[in-house]
Amino acid sequence: MLDERWIRSLHVETLREEELHAERAPHVLFQASTIGALLEGAYEGDLSFDELAEHGDLGLGTLNGLDGEMIALDGRFYRADVDGAVGEVAGGERTPFAVVTRFDPTVDLEVEGPLGHTELLARLEQLIPADATTCAVRLDGRFELIRARSVPRQSPPYRPLTEVVLEQHVFELREVEGTMLGFRFPDYVEGIEVSGYHLHFVSDDRKRGGHVLASRCAGALRARLDSANDLHVELPPGVELADPGVAAETHAAVELVERGS
Ligand SMILES: [Zn+2]
Repeated sequence: MLDERWIRSLHVETLREEELHAERAPHVLFQASTIGALLEGAYEGDLSFDELAEHGDLGLGTLNGLDGEMIALDGRFYRADVDGAVGEVAGGERTPFAVVTRFDPTVDLEVEGPLGHTELLARLEQLIPADATTCAVRLDGRFELIRARSVPRQSPPYRPLTEVVLEQHVFELREVEGTMLGFRFPDYVEGIEVSGYHLHFVSDDRKRGGHVLASRCAGALRARLDSANDLHVELPPGVELADPGVAAETHAAVELVERGS
């Protein structure tokens, strides 16, 4: 079953695992399942990291059982556990939610610090090409502060994400060199994706990381951006593409889960 639709200017195509083909085209985002399904407690996906690797080399997500925050960088997959300790993910492990892209930046420049997190996002907003609906982001440099979180591994029966996230651990990394990466999605994809910025961090030594809540940098960061207008969504059995359009309930849940507000 292939479902193809245009959601405003974002072209969304859904497919099942047996229909997957390796992604060759640049500027395409590939996503396993939907944020809507994750919110409802669908924490076991059918897609392995070996399969995910065929669709992109940069991205983020989580692991089956909601076992931490996932960071994909330069084709390697990392997991930040509940305390922010990072380890590499085995190719046979599976994900219930992930977004990746074959990163091919069209913007590559330095942004000058000092920048707080809100200022940093505002700066990125100016740099993203005007016709881009979505954008993959990679920021490299030294951060004075990264405030991040991760979540504890769950076991069935699974509870909704809004409950689980109350048990998240928030931690701070200071004076750390590393990479912040992720995506900016438009508001109208809520239900399928996290709207706005969704960023994860991993340190250069690949020892610390997590889902970014806030940051601050003193000096310059190298910013690379790769805009995309195509989103391919792999749907595990039982998961359908939620009708986008911002249900107030979904919006509130995503805000709570992703931004801790
Ligand atoms: Zn995240």
